[in-house]
Amino acid sequence: HLSPRLQAVSNYVKPKASLADIGSDHAYLPAFLLSQKVISHAIAGEVALGPLENARREIVAAGLQGSLIARQANGLDAITSADHVDTVVIAGMGGLLIADIMERDFKTHNQRQFPYLILQPNNNERAVRKWLIEHHYCLMSETIVQEDEHYYEIIYAVPGHQELDLLDLKYGPYLRRERSEAFQRKWNGEVKRINLILGRLAQAEKEDSTPYRQWAAEVRQIQGVLQ
Ligand code: SAM
Repeated sequence: HLSPRLQAVSNYVKPKASLADIGSDHAYLPAFLLSQKVISHAIAGEVALGPLENARREIVAAGLQGSLIARQANGLDAITSADHVDTVVIAGMGGLLIADIMERDFKTHNQRQFPYLILQPNNNERAVRKWLIEHHYCLMSETIVQEDEHYYEIIYAVPGHQELDLLDLKYGPYLRRERSEAFQRKWNGEVKRINLILGRLAQAEKEDSTPYRQWAAEVRQIQGVLQ
């Protein structure tokens, strides 16, 4: 049983995929996909010892020693060409870290590309989209899910060419056109938060200040996207 966030990530994994889950921690995602027989083998990559041990414990508990390998490695170093990985998942980290991990691999492994990327940044989604389109990936689909007060965006990308404008990068080219309920809740929440800031600035008679104008412009942009 996965959380709604990881469930949404897992929905993008194709049957029989050769999967690497980078920053896997407990390896819940690959363990679930293996137990459901969606895939037949996977790699769980972890840079840190504690999470690596979590993954190893989960593998033994689920009896997946034959099909799920946990490797201690920095980012995509967990994957060698002999693995024939076609699907890379990086979930549950900041967008800057995800972009960093992708960039390091791109540089150190001769610009290798993967057929399917499933990326779930916890923040800074823009940095992930920007990295993708600047490195010959094309976004195929996006999902936003809510868990408690958090909104998580999942980006599914494949090699290709795409042009995104500033609004696409920030709000998501698909998300901002679909305007799902979760998407509207996320950005309406942001408007509320900014309006509190604007209220405080107004109370301090700072309506003419640069921050006030910038926050007001941000609200107008969000409202334009939500319309
Ligand atoms: N992917 C799981 C999920 O979505 O629930 C676990 C997310 S957990 C919050 C983030 C994990 O990424 C941590 O266990 C951390 O050790 C790992 N991590 C951070 N930087 C990494 C890197 N450069 N390479 C591999 N793993 C990394």
